[in-house]
Amino acid sequence: MENLLVMKFGGTSMGGAERMRVAAQLISEQQKQRPLAIVVSAMSKVTDLLLDVLRRAELGDRAAVEVDVHNLLDRHLEACEDLLGNLENSAECLTGAREDIRSLVSEFQRIANGVYMLGERPPRSVDEAVAIGERLSASLLARYLKAIGIEARAVNGSDVIVTDALFGNATPQMGPTRQRCAERLAPLIEEGIAPIVTGFNGATVDGRPTTLGRGGSDFSASILAAALEASELWIWTDVDGIMTADPRIVPEVAVLDEVTYAEAAELAYNGAKVLHPRTLAPLVEKSIPVWSKNSFAPHKPGTKIFSRFEEPKGVRAVTSMSNVALVSMEPANAALSGTRLMARALDALALANVEILVFSSSSYRQTFCFLIRKHDVAAAVEALEANLSIELAHGYLKPIEIDDNVGLLAVVGEGMRGTPGLAGRVFTAISQEEINIIAIAQGSSELTIGIVVRLEGLERAVRAVHEECRLAGRRESVAVS
Ligand code: ASP
Ligand code: MG
Repeated sequence: MENLLVMKFGGTSMGGAERMRVAAQLISEQQKQRPLAIVVSAMSKVTDLLLDVLRRAELGDRAAVEVDVHNLLDRHLEACEDLLGNLENSAECLTGAREDIRSLVSEFQRIANGVYMLGERPPRSVDEAVAIGERLSASLLARYLKAIGIEARAVNGSDVIVTDALFGNATPQMGPTRQRCAERLAPLIEEGIAPIVTGFNGATVDGRPTTLGRGGSDFSASILAAALEASELWIWTDVDGIMTADPRIVPEVAVLDEVTYAEAAELAYNGAKVLHPRTLAPLVEKSIPVWSKNSFAPHKPGTKIFSRFEEPKGVRAVTSMSNVALVSMEPANAALSGTRLMARALDALALANVEILVFSSSSYRQTFCFLIRKHDVAAAVEALEANLSIELAHGYLKPIEIDDNVGLLAVVGEGMRGTPGLAGRVFTAISQEEINIIAIAQGSSELTIGIVVRLEGLERAVRAVHEECRLAGRRESVAVS
């Protein structure tokens, strides 16, 4: 659709009446100029609350469920009174909005009761229940917009985003999604009515509710932008844009003006909390640019994410992850081929749905290690031990070692490609801090160097590399000389 803007408001940008007023203001400004579609997250912390209620319901903790459901209701009613209570037509607006909220909360309560009775949380019911956070915020924002004279309508993401049936982490099916968007969203937008679509959720072709994974509202927004062939996507968050490092670790970080899709995706996968990692994929094919902007400082330009630079810009950012563990494996006997062992280990991990962040091997002793998230360790070990039980029992394979006293540092930038000496400078900067490097991995795209270090040295290593690559406090990062 020509000149269509999709804007997504995250949890903090929807966090209460005051934030919703700001969102409405931003929507109203754009609505005057161009066709618009909106995607919203649940109010901040609401998804955590909903998931917690379901967990407690499963455990049979009725009292806790009741308290939390009450809090859920109160938080939304409070925002509702604050938003609508002082408007001219407030009595009428309030009645409708309160009804919406009560009916959505009781829908949630019904599912939570079911979980309580069953003593079990079926993934499909969890997805249906947890999306109610987004349905609450979408309904409230749409009602407020209408009350102040902006044409808007709440739309349930499950009516427009078609996914596979992997509950909790579903993948969109773009063909049917495009068709639903053309049928249900395009006519609204053409009439000048902004659809306020719930982020995070979808449904299978036959209507079973799904969600796209935690933080998935960014992904919803990019799916819709791609399906509607938007000309831009703006993602409103609570930070100024994509930064050269985590500001809690490096005080002198800079906001990047521009990054490529590939860089932004590497940053997201390597721990930068800028975008849901799967967000960019739907946009790449049509080269739809994304802006990451701060709703707390809307006049700032934010970071533009797009296809590519005329000229690559060197190292762009340093990220880190501390919630990781290194798994090491080593054949004890030459009869066990290292390559076969790797193949079987990778197969077992894939089946257990464990993502590998770094993989590194040594050819002579046929040892290898890989880095995974800490919360995947139990599943990974179980899968590996099951798959390799005979080799372990007969001593062909040494016991699997887990080291969780490690952290991952990643240096990201398209311009590292073909920049000789860069890796050396990064390693030197780290070793000058007397931090031991445990494993290294660089993909053949040369976009990222992943470095595993001792956990206690991780933050110092990030600061040292940030400094060495001269990323501090400039708007434009420079190519590394
Ligand atoms: N509300 C969901 C979550 O917290 C989705 C999102 O905010 O992106 O994970
Ligand atoms: Mg988010």
